[in-house]
Amino acid sequence: MRPGLLPIVATLALLHGCATRSGSLDAPPGVSILPSSFTEDACCLLHVRISGTDYRMLLDTGSNGCVVSDRIAKNAAGSKIARGDTLVDYTRGDVKVEATHAIRLDEVVLGKVRIVDLDAVVIDLSLLCTALGQPIDGLIGLKPFRTRVLTIDYPRRCVSVGDERLREDRDTLPIRHPHLPMVDVSIGRARLRAVLDSGSGLTALRPRDADGRTTGVEETIRSATISGEHTSRMIELAVPLDVGPLRFDGVRASVHDTRYPRIGLEELRRLRVTFDQLSRLVRLERVAAKPPTADSPSAACCERHDRPLLRGTAPVVYGLPNLYLEALAPRSREFPHANSSVNHGCGVIEENPGTEPVWFCPDCRAAERAWFEAHGNGER
Ligand SMILES: [Zn+2]
Repeated sequence: MRPGLLPIVATLALLHGCATRSGSLDAPPGVSILPSSFTEDACCLLHVRISGTDYRMLLDTGSNGCVVSDRIAKNAAGSKIARGDTLVDYTRGDVKVEATHAIRLDEVVLGKVRIVDLDAVVIDLSLLCTALGQPIDGLIGLKPFRTRVLTIDYPRRCVSVGDERLREDRDTLPIRHPHLPMVDVSIGRARLRAVLDSGSGLTALRPRDADGRTTGVEETIRSATISGEHTSRMIELAVPLDVGPLRFDGVRASVHDTRYPRIGLEELRRLRVTFDQLSRLVRLERVAAKPPTADSPSAACCERHDRPLLRGTAPVVYGLPNLYLEALAPRSREFPHANSSVNHGCGVIEENPGTEPVWFCPDCRAAERAWFEAHGNGER
């Protein structure tokens, strides 16, 4: 984690507002991958297009509403909704945040998926941008995806919507709240309910959840929420945190006055999490193998071919990059994840440099092979 403004927490709820329409989802049958990237701290940023302009919005499962920046509000097609919206930051003793105004967005495009008629309140997000270390223009909660199944695969850095509903089994947990993905958890022998919050860096607990269950190691941390900057205690749990079938040991959690305890990204980032709001179930699975960071750290699904990347190997090559290919092949467009070789730069001569693990898209490799067949390889 970066020092300074962390963890970021963005859980909120709309209250006494007019901006209550959570949009309707238009998605093709089957699985659709949503264009996204992940920050170092595992925050998932959805790459959305609104009225022809690209923005990044934090996917925040701890929010029941949608928030946008003034930049979106100014440029987007949509209609203004009467003032008077108030957000409540439930992460901090129910602090109220006044929204400047609210807007109904005609359309939010996420690759092949569209959200139509999405209400959003407009607030200043500069503090959250600072905390994230990169600009975002909004927060988008789970609700717009309620008619489909939403999967965030953190280790493989892939977000998708699908139409195959979850069925109860040993990996699923019932959702215990009408608007938030709240599930039963235990901390040692204490039972409580916590929200699976993709907008929260650390797991967050109330003093009564943590008291008597910590190692005594403690630190003061700062965090950013929609209501401002806050200070809290960070503790380490001396007992395991159990979330359904999964056990987490040595959990570090922020302890402060909050209405809802939350399971944050430090835990979620090891999982594939599937939300089925219609069946009111969540599936939590540990998935192995994180993509190597040197190899396209921000994507583990192929946006061109709509499929998750596979783990494989590629020969290590040395020397100048193939300039012919670089110049002619629309590599980034046609086969962005072929990763058929790993270039370790020039100047090193090695007889048998071997192979390295990579993540690749089989369709990209096929497209690359076809390209070489059609164009030659430009060997000088
Ligand atoms: Zn591909």
